[in-house]
Amino acid sequence: GLPMCPLPQDDDYRALSLSGHVGFSTLPDQLVKKSIGRGFCFNILCVGETGSGKSTLINSLFNISFDDPVSTHFLPKVKLRAQTYELQESNILLKLTVVNTVGFGDQINKEDSYQPIVDYIDAQFEAYLQEEWKIKRSLFNYHDSRIHVCLYFISPTGHFLKPLDLLTMKSLDSKVNIIPIIGKADSITKSELRNFKNKIMSVLVSNHIQIYQFPTDDETVSKMNAIMNGHMPFAVVGSDEKVQIENKMVRVRQYPWGTVQVENENHCDFVKLREMLICTNMEDLREQTHAQHYELYRRCRLEEMGFRDMGPGNEPVSPQEVYEAEWSEFYLELQREENELREQYVQRKKEKAAMFKEEKQQQLAKHEHQMQILEEAHLKLEKKKKVLEDEIAAFLEKKVKTELLQSEASISAIAV
Ligand code: GDP
Repeated sequence: GLPMCPLPQDDDYRALSLSGHVGFSTLPDQLVKKSIGRGFCFNILCVGETGSGKSTLINSLFNISFDDPVSTHFLPKVKLRAQTYELQESNILLKLTVVNTVGFGDQINKEDSYQPIVDYIDAQFEAYLQEEWKIKRSLFNYHDSRIHVCLYFISPTGHFLKPLDLLTMKSLDSKVNIIPIIGKADSITKSELRNFKNKIMSVLVSNHIQIYQFPTDDETVSKMNAIMNGHMPFAVVGSDEKVQIENKMVRVRQYPWGTVQVENENHCDFVKLREMLICTNMEDLREQTHAQHYELYRRCRLEEMGFRDMGPGNEPVSPQEVYEAEWSEFYLELQREENELREQYVQRKKEKAAMFKEEKQQQLAKHEHQMQILEEAHLKLEKKKKVLEDEIAAFLEKKVKTELLQSEASISAIAV
């Protein structure tokens, strides 16, 4: 292996004060410039029953019309439809991918509803892992399709969460940051909503479902994030209709008795969601996806392949050792299979030869039997021939005698 050099310990470092300007204080600026140049990507997965308001909310969140085709309730299985858009705000480029679960909840077998979602999330992790494993990898301009957040749409029933919601969230919570939201919240009253929110949170806790928590370790946002954690799940309203209110075009839902303003904090939690999702925690969601969810996927995949950091006696194991161990195991297995095949081949050959011999013997016996029958028939014929010949001889003799007698008789008549 490679020669190991000892790692420097903390005590080996000495703090020095600079006697003049060096310039590395510009590092954060360099980082920002680079990130801006590269652009950002953000991938949202919307999970919720057909008609729960997913497309309308995404339109409202990003202030755009995604003109998603309307989904039907009659799909045989859930389909995940990903659409990527390039959005520009000031000089910042955002590559946004919205993945919609089409037909979710419309199947009779509920497992058919959430398994395609789990598979989709895993497939994006796997694609990233494969890129990492390449010798010539290009993660720099790789289009990262890993899901950064799952907006889980809960129907505004006011009752408990449905079993499908629990099952789905449970199977997703270790794979993606889940933000549960109550969709179409204009159809539920204020007091019902308060109750519903409490019920949802307690059911999630009692089922050990881990939802995304806005981080509280960064001072600048910790207070706001902590407050917002207390407002989950956000009750949101979306709309594609805009009207002018006080010189401003705002999104509204108009009813005969009044108007719901999407961006009015007294009407719903839409602004809270937008603030938390886009303005404050988008980077944390991306980070958590990589550091927590992808890391877990990667670890499981490596362990599945036999890789581990420590041996049974807690000794470090290098990937080379693991690779060699795997290879020799694979080689032994291969040899075993080869031997098995060879034995099978020899056995088959023996069986075939035995079968062939028996067949030959049977044919021979049959042939002999037929020959015997022929011979017997021949003998019978010979016998018959002999009898006939004897009969002919006797007949001829008789004939000669008769003729002789006749001629003698005619001679004596003439003499008389
Ligand atoms: P999706 O199938 O989940 O994408 O649902 P859509 O966004 O297509 O919405 C389905 C229907 O619900 C449409 O008629 C929307 O106008 C309506 N809708 C969307 N959001 C809301 C909302 O917040 N409140 C109410 N009352 N209706 C909504």
